[in-house]
Amino acid sequence: MEQFNGKSIFKGIAIGKILFYSKKQQQVKREKIEDNEAEIARYEAAKAKAIEQLRELCDKAAEEVGETNAAIFEVHTMMLEDEDYTDSVYNMIRKNSVNAEFAVAATGDNFSAMFTEMDDEYFKARAADIKDISDRLIRVLQGQGNTGEIGEEPVILVAEDLAPSETVQMDKSKLLAFVTRFGSSNSHTAILARTMNIPALIGVDIKKEWNGKMAVVDGKQGILLVDPDGTVLKKYEEEKKKEEEAGKLLSQLKGQTDVTVDGRHIKLYANIGSVADVANVLANDAAGIGLFRSEFLYLEKDDYPTEEEQFQVYKTVAQNMAGKKVVIRTMDIGADKQVPYFGMEHEENPAMGYRAIRICLDRVEIFKTQLRALYRASAYGSISIMFPMIISVEEVMQIKKIVEEVKAQLDSVHIAYGDVELGIMIETPAAVMISDLLAKEVDFFSIGTNDLTQYTLAIDRQNAKLDHIYDPHHPAILRMIQMVVDNAHKENCWVGICGELGADVTLIEQFIKMGVDELSVSPSFVLPVRKAIRETKYR
Ligand code: PEP
Ligand code: MG
Repeated sequence: MEQFNGKSIFKGIAIGKILFYSKKQQQVKREKIEDNEAEIARYEAAKAKAIEQLRELCDKAAEEVGETNAAIFEVHTMMLEDEDYTDSVYNMIRKNSVNAEFAVAATGDNFSAMFTEMDDEYFKARAADIKDISDRLIRVLQGQGNTGEIGEEPVILVAEDLAPSETVQMDKSKLLAFVTRFGSSNSHTAILARTMNIPALIGVDIKKEWNGKMAVVDGKQGILLVDPDGTVLKKYEEEKKKEEEAGKLLSQLKGQTDVTVDGRHIKLYANIGSVADVANVLANDAAGIGLFRSEFLYLEKDDYPTEEEQFQVYKTVAQNMAGKKVVIRTMDIGADKQVPYFGMEHEENPAMGYRAIRICLDRVEIFKTQLRALYRASAYGSISIMFPMIISVEEVMQIKKIVEEVKAQLDSVHIAYGDVELGIMIETPAAVMISDLLAKEVDFFSIGTNDLTQYTLAIDRQNAKLDHIYDPHHPAILRMIQMVVDNAHKENCWVGICGELGADVTLIEQFIKMGVDELSVSPSFVLPVRKAIRETKYR
């Protein structure tokens, strides 16, 4: 048995087999081949296998997410069969006697560059699909399986690093735990692990040879045990049982109110990233959803989600919450949440770059599509809309003007919508400092302590090296929260916290005394926070 230390980002114990997850990017070497025709036959065999994989994926997707969403796999099949693409691969193999992997990689690069340069947004977005089919062919040629494919048995996933776009595509029911070398505790992959309620460790000196070995992840102590002996396994199995019993005790709090000892009521909501998370929200008895990170909808896909697709998602969430409040944040793409089809230029400093509301106010059609979907869905439940990364009153005025245009458009075609509260994220120091002015313009604030800490302390939340000084308890942050609450309440604007700090049970009393009205936390933290609220004396 070997023990490795890491930093825990979600407590809990997982016992199971390790799956070493390799990144999507393949290393492709140029090699000289002897028999060009044999290499072409090898390419043809790989193409047939890739088409077979796509057919299976298409059937699976049609069952799970519907025919419309599954259509992308048909498009990929057509691309694989495209004559120009095939001719290019054949020519490279025949003229230069190169291996099929190299011919595919070069063809993929040339074709995707050609698409990227096109003016038409639709064709621009096809660059990512070309890249995707070329990667698939290379994986087949190199004898690797599908990406994101985990297999039937639930596993402890070990990887160098995981991007949010990779994590969202994984089958969550097959994940026991994450263990990575890189990543920070405030990254979105870490947040996803907390939402999924699975133990996760970062900063572990991982090894490829662990693939298939038994292991224990101890999220409490931040350790990974590879090949544990019988006694250790038994000890952890018992501890896991105890953990489950403690969970049962907490579940007695289901159905209880979120009220302090002396009668102050707090709205206790949950954060989600997909429709699938709603089950977890209901299972943990949250009173609503305080943050739906809608950008994960965009991250899961190879192309812009249509108005209809988005409408179906928002409507399902609203209906499943049966009249309870659902705060949906408009897409916060950018920084660590990149989507290839947005065709964004490389930025030196993406966290302070072209992201979130900045993209929406620049590419207004994308924004309007999302707003139309949100307003249409608002007829089916209690939806509120929140806007991320706000730094000025002018932005809010522009947003409100666009919202009015969208509503007028819906009115003109007699489409009904609900009474939608509008709010903003307070996650920049600028928004804090002008919160008195912003409060006059909106119905609510939700404090995003993850980014607020990053921008206030000038510490990149993704930088694992600085994790130890990334301190959301810093007095600057706590004073800012107080300032925001005071300014908001003067204008009848309610205030929540939806950053990870909201779930910190050591601060619940302080937040309540500050006057915070709402806390929105990962679903698995709802009951521990309820317990803390119910033990707090407000005065
Ligand atoms: C935040 O910044 O605190 C927040 C809730 O948003 P995100 O973590 O998605 O940036
Ligand atoms: Mg944020």
